[in-house]
Amino acid sequence: TEACLSAIEGADALGAFVHKTPEIATEQARAADARIKAGEAPAMCGIPMGIKDLFCTKGVASQAASRILEGFRPEYESTVTGQLFDAGAVMLGKLNMDEFAMGSSNETSTYGNAVNPWRRGNDEAQLTPGGSSGGSASAVAADLCLAATGTDTGGSIRQPAAFTGITGIKPTYGRCSRWGIVAFASSLDQAGPMAKDVRDAAIVLQAMCGHDPKDSTSADLPVPDFEAALTGDIKGKTIGIPREYRMEGMPEEIEALWTEGRRMLEDAGAKVVDISLPHTKYALPAYYVIAPAEASSNLARYDGVRYGHRAQLAQGDGINDMYEKTRAEGFGHEVQRRVMVGTYVLSAGFYDAYYNKARKVRTLIKRDFEEAFAQGVDAILTPTTPSAAFGLGEMAEADPVQMYLNDVFTVTVNLAGLPGVSVPAGIDKQGLPLGLQLIGRPWEEADLLNTAYALE
Ligand code: GLN
Repeated sequence: TEACLSAIEGADALGAFVHKTPEIATEQARAADARIKAGEAPAMCGIPMGIKDLFCTKGVASQAASRILEGFRPEYESTVTGQLFDAGAVMLGKLNMDEFAMGSSNETSTYGNAVNPWRRGNDEAQLTPGGSSGGSASAVAADLCLAATGTDTGGSIRQPAAFTGITGIKPTYGRCSRWGIVAFASSLDQAGPMAKDVRDAAIVLQAMCGHDPKDSTSADLPVPDFEAALTGDIKGKTIGIPREYRMEGMPEEIEALWTEGRRMLEDAGAKVVDISLPHTKYALPAYYVIAPAEASSNLARYDGVRYGHRAQLAQGDGINDMYEKTRAEGFGHEVQRRVMVGTYVLSAGFYDAYYNKARKVRTLIKRDFEEAFAQGVDAILTPTTPSAAFGLGEMAEADPVQMYLNDVFTVTVNLAGLPGVSVPAGIDKQGLPLGLQLIGRPWEEADLLNTAYALE
C-alpha cells in the first residue's frame, strides 16, 4: 500500500486517480495486517486497488466523472466495493473514466482525460488509455495499483484493457450486483476486474461476484472457484472464429494476432472452427439506440435537487429553469447527446421504429450466440478492438460515430449478456499492445478464464 501510494504521488501526469484516499488506504492496510496476524487472510487481504469513480463509496466523492455530481458523497457503499473491502482489499482512491461511462477514450471526463502509459515508439504524443474505464487501465498498467474495478456497458473494461496491455473481464450479466454503481444502461451494465493477468483477474472477480437481494437482476447462483479453474488444460474444447468479425479494412497486424491466437489455442489442444454470427453488423446501431434510451431514463434523476450540482438561478426563475440550467451546466456534450438520442428513440412517434426495432435486433444477436453454443462451441475468439490505442484528441468530437466504431467487437457481448475477457496478445509495429477477446457461455466464467489463461 505504501509503495502504491508513493507511486500515485509521482504519477499525477497520468491523470488516473481523481480522488486519492491515503488515510482510508492506510487504515484498511493496518486492518489487513491485523487479520493476517490473527491467522485470517482472505485472498484479497491487503491488496491495494483503485476504484472506478462510477462506484459509490461511502463518504468518499463518487462523481461518475461528471460535474453534475460535484460534492456528492454517498451515504452507502456499493455492494461490489463493500464485498472487496470485506475480503480485505485496500482502496487507494477513485479512478478517472468517461463521464457516466459514456465514451471510449476517457476524454469526456469532467476531470480531463487519463493518459496511456504506453507510447508509439519514441513518439512523445500522448495516447488514450481507452474508455470508459481509462483511469483503471492506466493505473494498473503503470503499476499504481495491483488491480482496479471497471464497468462494462459496451466494452468499457475490455477495450481499455486491450489498449494498455492488461487483462479485463466482463462477467455474465447478473454475476456482479449493480447496487450502488451509478447506472448508465441498466440492462447492459456489469462490473468486473482489471488486472495484470488472468490469475489476478480471477482472484479479484471472485470477491466481486455473488447474489445480492438489493439488485433484482443479480443471479442467485453459486460462485465457482475461479482461480482453481486455471489449469491451462483446454484439450477437447471447441473455439469458434466468427467470420463476421473479419472486417473490411482491419489492420493486418490485428489479423495476424488473431491467427496467432488461433494457433496458440490449437497448440493447447483445442479444436478451432469457423462459425457465423450473422447479425453482428446490426450490433453497433442497436447498442447506440438501446444504451442512450436507457441512459436518458436513468439520468432523469439529476435534477439539481437530489444530488450534487445546482445552477445559480436568476430572479424570477422557476423550477423548470432550475432543471434546465443545472442539466445544461452539469452534463458534458457526449452525455447531452445520449440524453437527446435516448429521448428521441423513446418518444411516442419513434418508439416502434427505433427502440422496439433495436430490441428485436438484440434478440437476434443473442440467438446467434445461442446457436453457436448449441453447436458445441465453448468459447469464441475475436480481436478486442479494431485498432491499437489512438492519440488523445485524434478522434474529432465532430464525428462521434468514428468513436463509436471502436466498440464494434465488444458491444455484441453486452447485448447478449455474455461473459467476455480481453487478454494482452502482443505488441504492434509501433510498440503498442493489442488484445484478444474470448466470449464464453453464460455463467461459465471459470471455463472462460481458463481458456484465456491458455492464451497468456
Ligand atoms: N464506448 C461505449 C459507450 O460509449 C461503451 C461504454 C461502456 O462500456 N461503459 O457507450
